[in-house]
Amino acid sequence: MSTNHNGISRREAIKYCLAGMAGAAGGGSLVWLIRDALRMNPGEVFPGDAPTGELWRLWHERGWVKEGYHYLKLGRNVQCKVCPNNCILTPGDRSHCRNKVNKDGTLYTLAYANPCSFHVDPVEKKPLFHYLPGSTAFSIATAGCVFRCLNCQNWEISQSKPEETKDATGAEYRLRPPVPETLSYQEMKRLSLFPEDVVSVAKSLSCPSIAYTYSDPVAFYEYTYDTCKHARENKVKNILVTCGSIDERALRDLGQYVDAAHVDLKGFDENTYWKLNTGSLQTILDILKTLHRMGNIWFEVINLIIPTYSDNPEMIKRMCGWLVENLGPDRPIHFSRFHPLYKLSHLPPTPVAILEKAREIARMTGLRYVYIGNAPDVADAGTTFCPNCHRAIIERDIFAVTRLDLDAGRCKYCQSTIAGVWS
Ligand code: SF4
Repeated sequence: MSTNHNGISRREAIKYCLAGMAGAAGGGSLVWLIRDALRMNPGEVFPGDAPTGELWRLWHERGWVKEGYHYLKLGRNVQCKVCPNNCILTPGDRSHCRNKVNKDGTLYTLAYANPCSFHVDPVEKKPLFHYLPGSTAFSIATAGCVFRCLNCQNWEISQSKPEETKDATGAEYRLRPPVPETLSYQEMKRLSLFPEDVVSVAKSLSCPSIAYTYSDPVAFYEYTYDTCKHARENKVKNILVTCGSIDERALRDLGQYVDAAHVDLKGFDENTYWKLNTGSLQTILDILKTLHRMGNIWFEVINLIIPTYSDNPEMIKRMCGWLVENLGPDRPIHFSRFHPLYKLSHLPPTPVAILEKAREIARMTGLRYVYIGNAPDVADAGTTFCPNCHRAIIERDIFAVTRLDLDAGRCKYCQSTIAGVWS
């Protein structure tokens, strides 16, 4: 889980060697020229934006800095291999996700043990409908994200640096059980929550799971990894709420400790994915297939339908066809209603008729568990129907489970197995 962790091909080794020579020569611009020539596709970074002096010292002292996992040393430059942005950083640079920096030839994360947000949420809010229904997840996030979604509902944290959400001066505030009802703004800014603290707080609040959410756990990979590992050792489950833009090796390494995931599939068109999210559709499809093959992580797919971007019925039909063919008919899909936000505040909310049409298409295509989110007035938006006898077996009122007619994961009426993790 460091530079040695990445088995690389001979061709890749030649690429990295060339980029490393450029780094050793101290030539930032040469790095970019070689990178472009070799189509290494690293993300846009923030040159010279790493913290220095007193700020760096304070973050180190707090324990909010940790050497990155999954990266390559290229002379004095480094390349992060956690997500497909594959940021190449010369000394003093900050990464695309804003969370990682190159300090003197070593990659560090600044998003460690310093959540800017935490909350106890029902798992239905993630949303996960086929995973421990009615249970809660202790949910945490740091600043930073690997994407730049035009519609981000958490852009205040996802598009911030960790230093903009936290304060390393003054006395540290360490959260341990018993957890107070509220924290002041200053306590939140100075809060340290190390992996062992996250687990003990989750247990003290009777949360069977920890959710890594709000921004994206890929951007705070090292914190997520260490917390997941500690949680697994202490019989607490782990949930990733993610855009799914992660390198396969990093996913497989983290995935051994993960129990469930919510993965966004933000559309089914490569150009739109780039324009709307700065992501790659093919990457997400590959990760969904990897998760399916891994088999140890229960996951559900979420598709936010945004007017003019992802509301084309033909596109939705192709997407549903791909899901059935590659993930099978039992993978739940949630069509979520868009509300005007951030850089798309000029668009209207998704019309209910489009959401209902998407549900109809998904069912016609063969998907068995289809839901509509953010639209409480739509009939049966959150109802699970038995695919065999077609009775309503789980009903939900927004995030509350109001009916649960399951016996050990089987329909109470016809005894058919219902896909999911139920206990
Ligand atoms: S996780 Fe962050 S630093 Fe690493 S490649 Fe992705 S954007 Fe770059």
